[in-house]
Amino acid sequence: MPPQTSCKKFQGTVSEYLVRHKSILDVMSKFQEASAHVNRAMAKAVTNCGCLKIKAEKQPVSPNVNFSEVSKYVKTHIEGSLCSNCREVVEAELGNAMFYIAAFCTLLDLDLEKILSKENDRISTLGVYSLT
Ligand SMILES: [Zn+2]
Repeated sequence: MPPQTSCKKFQGTVSEYLVRHKSILDVMSKFQEASAHVNRAMAKAVTNCGCLKIKAEKQPVSPNVNFSEVSKYVKTHIEGSLCSNCREVVEAELGNAMFYIAAFCTLLDLDLEKILSKENDRISTLGVYSLT
């Protein structure tokens, strides 16, 4: 048997621990909650900690700019970087959200690694145009 990639290993572990939230309804609602927690952790990094600032404004992209060059002009609107504490919280919340993504895959008999691979191929093939 070939060694398992971290993706397959993760989905396997999630499958084993998918006891309390085995209903697809639980997974759907817990995934939404987990996504909200990721955003909440980001908001707290800005408003409680202050290690990040969000300075948003309209993206100043001229209609004459070639789409492949847009990334040179658009901003993330993020200033600063996550401190070690906020990084730990955001990582934990993202990990929790990934748990529920893997749970979706398990309950629907989907292969998380295949999905990632397909998406990677799609993005690679279509390039910047895939994300519009
Ligand atoms: Zn912080």
